[in-house]
Amino acid sequence: MRRDANTLRTALAEIDRQHLRRARRTVESFPVPESRAEVVVGGRRVVDFCSNDYLGLARHPLIAKAMSDCATQAGAGSAASHLITGHGTEHQRLEEELADFTGRERALLFSTGYMANLAAIATLADRGEVVALDRLNHASLIDGTLLSGARFSRYAHGDPADAERVLKEHGGQCTVLATDGVFSMDGDIARLPTLARLSRAYKAWFVVDDAHGIGVLGHRGRGLLEQFELDPTEVPVLVGTLGKAFGSFGAFIAGSTDLIELLVQKARTYIYTTALPQPVAAATRKALQIVQDEPWRRERVLALATRFRAAARQLDLHLTPSESPIQPVILGGADIAVRAQNELLEAGFLVVAIRPPTVPAGTARLRITFSAAHSEDQVDALVEALGRIQAQSPKRPDTH
Ligand SMILES: *Cc1c(COP(=O)(O)O)cnc(C)c1O
Repeated sequence: MRRDANTLRTALAEIDRQHLRRARRTVESFPVPESRAEVVVGGRRVVDFCSNDYLGLARHPLIAKAMSDCATQAGAGSAASHLITGHGTEHQRLEEELADFTGRERALLFSTGYMANLAAIATLADRGEVVALDRLNHASLIDGTLLSGARFSRYAHGDPADAERVLKEHGGQCTVLATDGVFSMDGDIARLPTLARLSRAYKAWFVVDDAHGIGVLGHRGRGLLEQFELDPTEVPVLVGTLGKAFGSFGAFIAGSTDLIELLVQKARTYIYTTALPQPVAAATRKALQIVQDEPWRRERVLALATRFRAAARQLDLHLTPSESPIQPVILGGADIAVRAQNELLEAGFLVVAIRPPTVPAGTARLRITFSAAHSEDQVDALVEALGRIQAQSPKRPDTH
């Protein structure tokens, strides 16, 4: 793009033409009981159905207190990267607790899941190699591949047979197979046992990004690997995020001692950045304890998602095959999805329309997410509002 004021305006106009302009909305803080999934936007109190706060921990008073107590002691900033002097006691303890929680030798903290995924792929894949990715993988797994200098080859979504085609096609060059555990825009789950078997057979590192599963799925909240009973030899590289179910911020990679040590030596998104503030790590430690002590939170959020599905099916809404707290309603056109989003906001529900390029063209959707903080009444009211919107809008095309 040449430097000239008009090129920027033309680029923005093109985004508008496609109904793809994204806008931020400012969420105003207000003293709402943490147990309620409500936020204030534009001066109005609305029910939040788009956060990733699956367990209702983001405003938990004990977690906030752990953060402020730590800040009083350790300060707000970590002042350096982990390899200089930024690595503190709270980071160290949290890493040990996460290793224990995931049943792995070690865990390494990152500032974000985005950075953790870049680290995992770029450390394991080299120039001249190939990374096999699910077509609907999170952008960070793609960007990690770009950073590594390897090429990526994408297989059909959720299709292990197509993944095997990619592994076969590239012979020994395909060194990494990476997938989301729970797909963030569809809520469905990757077939991890089959992919684990394939990646072992073809000697590719298997990287699972369990951003939306960790804390929520599995008998003890240890995520998808627990649900599928997969051990560290089957999935050697596990990425988890801490800004979703844990209600905090940050991410980690868990694996063998050697894997973690190599990441510390080589991962650019670990080495060349300031360490996460210790108060954030302290907050996450408290969250980790609550996740383990209060299984009712994950039982509740999954029960609410099931309740939603049953009611939405009665209305013939277009759902995805999701067994997670992410329950999208596919609407098709970006304009239709935006209109539905606005109508829901009018009715007191904050739901975000997800449009291309985040999702494939023609599959714009409302990405509805549930939280243990929702009430049954809130869920029922949302379904009612969706029903009203569907009754008013033109019939959806057969292709969707
Ligand atoms: C949210 C998300 C990430 C990024 O995690 P952040 O901590 O928000 O950077 C990575 N992978 C998936 C699948 C996600 O949904």
